[in-house]
Amino acid sequence: MTTRLQSEELTFLFDLDNTLYPRASGLLAHLDQHINAYLRDVLSINEDEVDEVRRRYVKIYGTTLRGCQVEHNVDPLEFIAKTHDIDPTKFVGPDKDVERILRELPGIKVVFSNSPMLHVGRTLDALNLTHLFEKIYTIEFCEFEGKPNKAAYERVLADLDADPEWCVMIEDTSANLVVPNQLGMTTVLVSDGSGSWPKYVDYVVQKVPDLLSIFGGGRDKLLA
Ligand SMILES: [Mg+2]
Repeated sequence: MTTRLQSEELTFLFDLDNTLYPRASGLLAHLDQHINAYLRDVLSINEDEVDEVRRRYVKIYGTTLRGCQVEHNVDPLEFIAKTHDIDPTKFVGPDKDVERILRELPGIKVVFSNSPMLHVGRTLDALNLTHLFEKIYTIEFCEFEGKPNKAAYERVLADLDADPEWCVMIEDTSANLVVPNQLGMTTVLVSDGSGSWPKYVDYVVQKVPDLLSIFGGGRDKLLA
């Protein structure tokens, strides 16, 4: 595996859901239940149809919210208020390992999430990680057209004034790593699965603390 990273400071862009906290926490699954209930209500569809609709929206539009906007003229602020007003402390708490690794990782750290600030802010607080990030980019910042739309990544990179060659995107959703790879970023997939991975995935880690063994030395120490 070769890498483009060479020297000086890195910028780490972290997804939030199922990346900075584990899937096993159940937080995202709980959130999904709220979104499903909202879709059943607003689109007048049954439980069996919800999964298919969401799969289709994510495939075509990137997110369920964007599909609801385009196909049903749903107000994104109403969608967020009715689906994301949940208490993450019932599912996640402070994670000392992740906190320590984020402190030790040399470089700038930001969050880049497709979730709204209502959920991102509360969840980072629940994890006690808010203070470790220089910037927090949410779906509002991307005007509700988030990952994997190229414009979303470009907007974030422009705001950071960052060269994608020195950026690392860390995600549990592999489809959201395609564009970062095209832009020249280093890509990390968080996954507990095994097997072969697409070429656009540079590294696979099981959990965030595993990043330190890859990036702990900064640009200079990163090995091919
Ligand atoms: Mg995620």
